[in-house]
Amino acid sequence: MNPINGMMDFIRQSPTAFHAVANLQEMLKGQGFRPLNECEPWKLVPGGRYYVTRNQSSLIAFRVPEGEFDHFQLVASHSDSPCFKLKPSAGRDANGYALLNVEKYGGMIMQTWFDRPLSIAGRAVVRTEEGIGTRLVCFDREMALIPNLPIHFNRAVNDGVKLNPQVDMLPVIGAAGTDYKALVAEALGVDDADILGCDLYLVNRDEPRLWGASGEYVAAPRLDDLECAYASVRALLEAKPSNHVDMACVFDNEEVGSGTRQGADSTFLSEVMRRIVAALDGNGQALETTLARSMMLSADNAHGVHPTHPEKYDENNRVALNGGVVVKFNAAQKYTSDGVSQAVFEEICRRAGVPVQRFANRSDIPGGSTLGNIANTHASMITVDIGLAQLSMHSANESAGAHDLAHMISAMRAFYEAEVCVMGDGMIRIRG
Ligand code: ZN
Repeated sequence: MNPINGMMDFIRQSPTAFHAVANLQEMLKGQGFRPLNECEPWKLVPGGRYYVTRNQSSLIAFRVPEGEFDHFQLVASHSDSPCFKLKPSAGRDANGYALLNVEKYGGMIMQTWFDRPLSIAGRAVVRTEEGIGTRLVCFDREMALIPNLPIHFNRAVNDGVKLNPQVDMLPVIGAAGTDYKALVAEALGVDDADILGCDLYLVNRDEPRLWGASGEYVAAPRLDDLECAYASVRALLEAKPSNHVDMACVFDNEEVGSGTRQGADSTFLSEVMRRIVAALDGNGQALETTLARSMMLSADNAHGVHPTHPEKYDENNRVALNGGVVVKFNAAQKYTSDGVSQAVFEEICRRAGVPVQRFANRSDIPGGSTLGNIANTHASMITVDIGLAQLSMHSANESAGAHDLAHMISAMRAFYEAEVCVMGDGMIRIRG
C-alpha cells in the first residue's frame, strides 16, 4: 500500500511541531513503544522499545536489541516548518478588524501566505490543581486570513514587492473586539485567567492532496520536513529486529538554527545515547567506541529541479520528483555526506532496490543547510545527508513526488535492518 495517504493524514493532524510529536507518539505507542521521562533514571531491558520527548516538540524513539549491541543506527529529521508566531500580546484592533500581531518563525516565502485560509495552533500553559500544565491548542476551522492589497493600489505587485512583516503580514481574525485569548480559553474549557503562557502559531489550513494527470505529485503544507519525520518513524516501526540500537530522532527548531534546548544543537541526542549505553552496558564498552561505530542518516527534503528555471540547478547534479531518494553533497560540508557515508548508504539502497539520485548546488549559489552537521558537533559519527526532491521549498504549500515517500521508507527500513559494522577509520562492512 502506498504510504502517502498515511502521511497526508499525519500532516493534516500536525499543524505545529507539538502536534507532530504528539501524533508520532501515538504511532509509537500503538506498536508497544513505552515513554521515558528525562527527569527520572531509566531502566531499559533487552528487546525494549522506547521514546522520549523534550519540550513536547522534539522526540527520540529507539529499539534495543535482544542481545549485546555495540553501535547506534539513527535517522534525524525535523518537526518544525517556517510559519508565523503570535507575539505574547498579539491582539490589536484596526479599521474595524481584529488583527493578530505575529513575527516570522524561519524563512518562508511570505507572499504564499496571502489570501488563504489560516488557523491558530500550538500550546497553552494553564494553571491546574496539580500545578502548571500544558495543553495542545488546535482550532479545527478557518480562523484567519492575511489579505493582499488590491492590484489597483499596488500596480507593481507582479514585478516583485518588498514585504514588511510588521505591517503586511498581520492576519485578520474577525471584527474589531474579537479576543483571541478568550477563544483559546473557550476551546480548552478553562478560565482566561488560568492561561499563564502560550506558544501559538499561525498555520496554513490547506488540505494535503494529490495532483497531476495521474496523481503523481502531492501538495501539502510542511512537507519539509514532516515527510522525512513520518518516513523515519514508519520505517522504524516496520523494520525487522536488528543487533544494534535503531533510533528515529525528530528535532524542533531546525528552521531557526537548531540552537535551542530541544534542537539538534543541544545535548538531547548525546544524553539519550549516553543513558542508553549506561543502562545496557553489559561488557564495559564505553560511549566513545559505541559512537565511533555508529551511523546517522540526516533526512531533510531537497530541491527538485524547477520546470522553467533549470538554470538555478547544477547541470550534472540536479534531482527530479519521483526519482528516488536524494543524497546531498556540499564541499563546504553544510551537508555531511562524503565518499564513505555515500558509499555505505547507496550500497544499502542498491541491495534494497531503492533508486538514488545525487544533488549538489551550483558553485555560484550557496544553497541551504540542515541539521546533520550540527548534531555531529555533539554526537559525532559517520553521517550522510539525504532527502526527497520537492518544489517550492518554504512556500506555505509545497509539492513533492507521490511515489518518493515509499522509496524513502524502504531506504530507511533497509538501513535499520542492515548491520553497518565500522571496523576502523575508513573500514566498513555491511551485513544483512
Ligand atoms: Zn528542512
